[in-house]
Amino acid sequence: MLVIFQADTPADGHELKSLLSHLEQYPDVKAQVHRVQGALRSLTEVYLIGRTDTVSKEGLEGLPGVERVVRISEKYRLIGRHRAQVESVGFIYNGVQFHQDSFHVFAGLCAVDHRDHVAKTMKALKSAGVTTTRMGAYKPRTSPYDFQGHGAECLPYVFELAGQNGVQVVAMEVVHEAQISEIRSALEKAGKPTGVMLQIGTRNSQNFELLKQVGQQKEFPVLFKRGMGITLEESLNACEYVASEGNRNIVFCLRGVKSHLGEPHRNLVDFAHVPVVKRLTRMPVCVDPSHSVGRRDKGSDGLYDLQHAAAQGVIAGANMVLVDFHPDPSSALCDGPQAMLLEELPWFLDDLKIVREAYEKRRARATT
Ligand code: PEP
Ligand code: MN
Repeated sequence: MLVIFQADTPADGHELKSLLSHLEQYPDVKAQVHRVQGALRSLTEVYLIGRTDTVSKEGLEGLPGVERVVRISEKYRLIGRHRAQVESVGFIYNGVQFHQDSFHVFAGLCAVDHRDHVAKTMKALKSAGVTTTRMGAYKPRTSPYDFQGHGAECLPYVFELAGQNGVQVVAMEVVHEAQISEIRSALEKAGKPTGVMLQIGTRNSQNFELLKQVGQQKEFPVLFKRGMGITLEESLNACEYVASEGNRNIVFCLRGVKSHLGEPHRNLVDFAHVPVVKRLTRMPVCVDPSHSVGRRDKGSDGLYDLQHAAAQGVIAGANMVLVDFHPDPSSALCDGPQAMLLEELPWFLDDLKIVREAYEKRRARATT
């Protein structure tokens, strides 16, 4: 059961105290208090765990400050929308808002390879007015002989160049808990010129120990990439692991699923699931056309397949696009064949603007 207090009710005020004393008559029910610092509003929510079938919903609704009481299903207890009874409040990180109506493009390098490539990419982002990027320092590769990323060594210049170019959030994959501390200390040493969103890659989507570690810290939000070979339900449960450890600042990323039916693309594009995840959960949804399509092929209409895939996600209401760009894809040490060219960034952004505006028009005409 979930008790939601009216907006801006303090977590230590008399409203909460009266709820807790009301609950004393139910010794088999435990209360867990959560303060949600949302992008749209701040909320105090209390989860009631245990024999809640005996608890009167009306009794709770009559208590001071209580806005709503929801009987929740076991599934996705913290991340779920529970049949639209719970709203998505989102979060603000390093000055950037993330919620189910926001829209950001995280364009950047799949992997940090050379300082010069990072510098060129950051500069291109600045001139295009983009303040969010992707840069992989730790790369999970299929072959042990492939480039594994520069790791902690590259963090100082990535953060410094991000800060110099006004980049506020860098999405960066972690494949081991120790890397969270490496990122934290590199950011601190650099004077926190930027922020990091910790990415959980598709290959680690059911690495429950790693999920718990990113969930136990609240400093960095989490970008969770759907498992490529598991059900959507299993991926959403993985996000519930993160949330149940304390961190609810999660963005869910669709990145295609493994299937030979997807050929000639790298993965089968699953962006029709954008509205599904927004309906089932409170998480903003991201799409990654680069790792879905996996190649820089142009259609007969002059648009890249990956632009079409990105458009499919955005027209369906995606809140974020994660996309690979590179100043010189032929020399990239990871995923060069799917990177768009830096000089194509303004075109890519313009194209997405058209699609986002179309989505907003569609939404305005929809009846709810
Ligand atoms: C990536 O975004 O760099 C990546 C490895 O993606 P995925 O985990 O979706 O394959
Ligand atoms: Mn990649």
